[in-house]
Amino acid sequence: MTKTIRPLIAGNWKMNGLKASAAEFAAMLAGASKVVGKADLLVCPPATLIAGFAEESKGSIGLSIGGQDCAPQPSGAHTGDISAEMLADAGARAVIVGHSERRADHGESNELVREKAEAARRAGLTAIVCIGETLVQRDNGQTLEICRDQLDDSLPGGARADNLVVAYEPVWAIGTGLTPTAADVEQIHHFIREFLVGRFSGDGAAMRILYGGSVKPANARELLAVPNVNGALIGGASLKAVDFLAIAADCP
Ligand code: PEP
Repeated sequence: MTKTIRPLIAGNWKMNGLKASAAEFAAMLAGASKVVGKADLLVCPPATLIAGFAEESKGSIGLSIGGQDCAPQPSGAHTGDISAEMLADAGARAVIVGHSERRADHGESNELVREKAEAARRAGLTAIVCIGETLVQRDNGQTLEICRDQLDDSLPGGARADNLVVAYEPVWAIGTGLTPTAADVEQIHHFIREFLVGRFSGDGAAMRILYGGSVKPANARELLAVPNVNGALIGGASLKAVDFLAIAADCP
């Protein structure tokens, strides 16, 4: 039913990218028009590159720029933090919040992630809220329980399909080359869809649910064809234009 949702292929560059990466980004921009019939593209470079990339992509069809994190506050004495308003001012249209690396490295709680998602909405950005279980939790059969708790506590109230995206990213699949089976992804994405419909009604039915974790050209077609997979959040493979665009081209 949800295959009519336009896919989103989002690249998370993490702490990778210098001014010299402009050439790789230019290749993405140049290729974006070829996949515009398949998906929207979002590139989330490090904060230092957002304004430049946003400027370069002005007027481009189907490719926008996002941040990788934001502070809950709009401004103030928070050394080193970047607000959602600042990302929007730099030209970002979206922001990833609650990535497992932030949850693990910076001790981010579900409540903090929700505040960040609310900040994104306040600034007019789409929040991409990441959830997903660790390997231990998976081995203990807790995947759905963990995802439900993260959804319950990390998602902002009153969200709409155009300002909230959920990314299911099993922690054990991120950067490891491992992926869940298509059947596992289908079960979990179905569970997330039911949750979203229960929480946001029609908007929940139309919200994008991305799969993330070791997506690459070799496995993208199979993963992107799974019901309720409305695109992908991609780390490593988003650093190369040829791979990123190949994944987008594999959207059903
Ligand atoms: C990620 O960091 O969100 C991610 C999915 O990384 P990778 O594609 O490298 O597993």
